[in-house]
Amino acid sequence: MLRQYELVDLVKSYDPDADEDALNRAYVFAMKKHGAQLRTSGDPYYSHPVEVAGILTKFKLDSTSIIAGLLHDTVEDTDTTVEEIKSLFGEQVAQIVDGLTKLAMIEQKSAHNKQAENFRKLLLAMSEDIRVLLIKLADRLHNMRTLHFCAPEKRMRIARETLDIYAPLAERIGMQEVKSELEEIAFAELHKEAYESIKARLNFLREQGSNLVPKIIAELQKDMEENGIKAQVSGREKTPYSIWRKMQSKNASFEQLSDIMAFRIIVDDVASCYQALGIVHSKYHMVPRRFKDYISTPKPNGYKSIHTGIIGPENTRIEVQIRTAEMHEVAEKGVAAHWAYKQGERVVGKNFRWIRELLEILEQASNPEEFLENTKLEMYNDQVFCFTPKGDLIGLPINSTPVDFAYAVHSSVGDTCVGAKINGEIRPLRTILQNGDQVEILTSKAQHPSTEWDRFVVTGKAKAAIRRYVRQFKRDQFITLGQQLLERTFKGENLEFNEKALVNVFPNFEAESIDDIYAKVGEGLVTAWDVMKAVYPGYKQSKLEKVVKPLKSVFGKSVRKDKAKGEPLKIKGLIPGMAVHFAGCCHPLPGDRIVGIVTTGKGVAVHTIDCKLLEKFADEPERWLDISWGEAADEGPHVGRLKIMLANEPGSLGDLSNLIARNNGNISNLNIVNRTVSYFELLVDVEVKDLKHLTDIIAALKASKVVSYVSRSVQ
Ligand code: MN
Repeated sequence: MLRQYELVDLVKSYDPDADEDALNRAYVFAMKKHGAQLRTSGDPYYSHPVEVAGILTKFKLDSTSIIAGLLHDTVEDTDTTVEEIKSLFGEQVAQIVDGLTKLAMIEQKSAHNKQAENFRKLLLAMSEDIRVLLIKLADRLHNMRTLHFCAPEKRMRIARETLDIYAPLAERIGMQEVKSELEEIAFAELHKEAYESIKARLNFLREQGSNLVPKIIAELQKDMEENGIKAQVSGREKTPYSIWRKMQSKNASFEQLSDIMAFRIIVDDVASCYQALGIVHSKYHMVPRRFKDYISTPKPNGYKSIHTGIIGPENTRIEVQIRTAEMHEVAEKGVAAHWAYKQGERVVGKNFRWIRELLEILEQASNPEEFLENTKLEMYNDQVFCFTPKGDLIGLPINSTPVDFAYAVHSSVGDTCVGAKINGEIRPLRTILQNGDQVEILTSKAQHPSTEWDRFVVTGKAKAAIRRYVRQFKRDQFITLGQQLLERTFKGENLEFNEKALVNVFPNFEAESIDDIYAKVGEGLVTAWDVMKAVYPGYKQSKLEKVVKPLKSVFGKSVRKDKAKGEPLKIKGLIPGMAVHFAGCCHPLPGDRIVGIVTTGKGVAVHTIDCKLLEKFADEPERWLDISWGEAADEGPHVGRLKIMLANEPGSLGDLSNLIARNNGNISNLNIVNRTVSYFELLVDVEVKDLKHLTDIIAALKASKVVSYVSRSVQ
């Protein structure tokens, strides 16, 4: 384990202005706070944060990062608070430690990694400061290095998680070295046999080829020197994991994989890179399709290098990478190196450029696909990631609500959701979800999608489901209405009504089912009389015309009342067979002067003559129908809407409903529009016989002490 002074010396070796005092205090603080806690290895716990800080010095990170690395587990595992860290080590350190603590909590929620990609995005979205991510990776790297101390089941889980989540993250931000090490340890854990056999095979080849690597290095080095290129050549066998990956992707056996050695030529500048390439290609055979120029076209993560495959010295197939020293540093250390290189040019301590620099690297992408890859990092700002109670991660657009979440889980969950628990607390369905929220949807079989939801959902899936439901709901209503209209029309003419007869006339109405015909009649697209004429072509025209007048005989008293539809059937002047409904704006009552408006697709809408909405139709006289109430109006309930100001005092609502009931009115709906200390403002729908009935109720309400204002509402 690194001692206190060793760590400080390491940091000062690349950052002479580092805050030595703070580094010392952080070291001691972590040691004290973790106290007697032990790791599974038997080491004192504080050795872990110290080693993590040590890894961070390899990336040459600033002292803020090193201090945060030392403290990274204190809030999660000890009684330390973020406030405490803030007062002792300042705002930045506290924020980074806070971010790391949140990541750790999120990590625990995700029991398995089916949605690794979402999890990676979540980590990126939550790491507002890139240093959070770098420390997280160092933390994971040290945990992997000490993985063998853990219980076997736990090892497998951690190794899989590392391969699925952390190695790709390291690659995404260009930290090749960390990525490779994480992969190798995880691979050895997850595929022990494959790992062992590749190792054994490599050993065998090494002995057989009497150690080719040094020979080839020497040869390439000589080639460069002879041509006046200053270069450093290194070589290595490829790692077991990268060989295994190649075997998987190319479906080749180990014997067929010839280029298991890779060599690197590091030169001073870009011009020398291409000169070195020319030398290599002129001397050795090039392997087709293995040449890649990542200098002119860098990888999305900022990686620059030239790759080529050749039949090299000793007649061996090898891979050669050519790059400058700076490119090499960036390739191995990613953003960290990028930062370190620029460190000389700017004031140490102002590290806010981190994120911008990362984005700059990512913006260098060349083709559209790469661009998309890169901008994803920014695009995560447009998404939130939330957990199901089982730990599944659901990615949603920003501003999503529990209803969106419910539909993302399953449309049946969305259709029946009645409430939501967010992080264990019941919250309204319109609540906007935050990154990392755990969302539990409460459902009820009695629930249906609500048009209300349409106002706040943001996902297409939720919107589509709600609209589909509303359409289907309307269609159901049209079907019921259409069936009633047809039955009444047929019976009124003493003609037999049966569904079998209707089947024969499907083609006449472009219908595919009985319901289609009902729906068309109910919606007013086809009249009941058209259908009757089609079923009974011989039925006499003259008789039809005679029937136009006495609508009442068609929709006579024997027919059961359709309460929901408001029994619009005692109105004179309507077109027979056409669907009718009362306008929701003005709630016409028998006794009101009324007018009919032919709507598109919904039959005739009945309005009061003074309804404000009628202005809209002023220029379309052809749509106006002169209608009036029949004399013998049925007792069918009609809805009148009242606007009431009611004293806000105990029992006033009870008084109101009693008063209406005593006057034979029935409250069908009540809506509190506004509520102040002294008043309720209400809209109350009351079922009444007619206008006079409603007027009586209004008079009775005006006489009441609790009602301060009442009028009929026409909107
Ligand atoms: Mn840790």
